[in-house]
Amino acid sequence: MIDSHCHLDHCEAPDGEVVERAVAAGVRRLATVGIDDASIERALAAAYAHEEVFAIVGRHPHEAEGLDDAGIEAIERAAGDERVRAIGETGLDYFRDLSPREDQRRAFEAQIDLARRLELPVVIHTREAEEHTFAILRDRAEGMTVVLHCFSAPGRLDECVERGYVCSFAGNVTYPKAIALQTAAREVPDELLMVETDSPYLSPQPVRGKPNEPANVVQTARHLAELRGVDYEELERAVEATAARVFRW
Ligand SMILES: [Zn+2]
Repeated sequence: MIDSHCHLDHCEAPDGEVVERAVAAGVRRLATVGIDDASIERALAAAYAHEEVFAIVGRHPHEAEGLDDAGIEAIERAAGDERVRAIGETGLDYFRDLSPREDQRRAFEAQIDLARRLELPVVIHTREAEEHTFAILRDRAEGMTVVLHCFSAPGRLDECVERGYVCSFAGNVTYPKAIALQTAAREVPDELLMVETDSPYLSPQPVRGKPNEPANVVQTARHLAELRGVDYEELERAVEATAARVFRW
């Protein structure tokens, strides 16, 4: 199994323990996200310390305020490391609105452009900003590998499939009331399907309310397999193949 998106540096336990529990649960590859300069350093350190771990580097929309050329250059330098396999997470968050929307947009566009230049996938965070997020992607990300982290746009599934956006499902797909999301999870083609924990956030139903960790991706994957009417091994093969293509690991 894989975890396409986690934040090891936000998890309480040391990376080593968290990774060990993930491996024991059958997780063979994890992508941890560095969301600002300090976090990027921690993501890279984790990727060097553990062969199962790779890094995604960028500036989160919450931290987008004031991201300038020097900030983008710092991401570019980090992205030159061979343990880095994607740019992000970037996008728009109008739910928490922690950075001015104009700064979020600028940081988003700059990171798409950077990912294009470096020929890396771009990992998207979008919350209550679907319309603007998808418009910017249509505009700037044509032909790129786009990953919709914590997929939450079931109403736009047709567009996602048409454009080849990879849909990465997090623990919230297991919640009893997530009917629209579950319908989307049944319909995503294998080659666009990934699964993630977004640890330490968004714990799946069986451990809901507790801090999440990459080992729990197995529970979300099991739920996805049930939704799709396939056995766990078949689901695992599909998401592993998608992740291997996206992250080249
Ligand atoms: Zn995240």
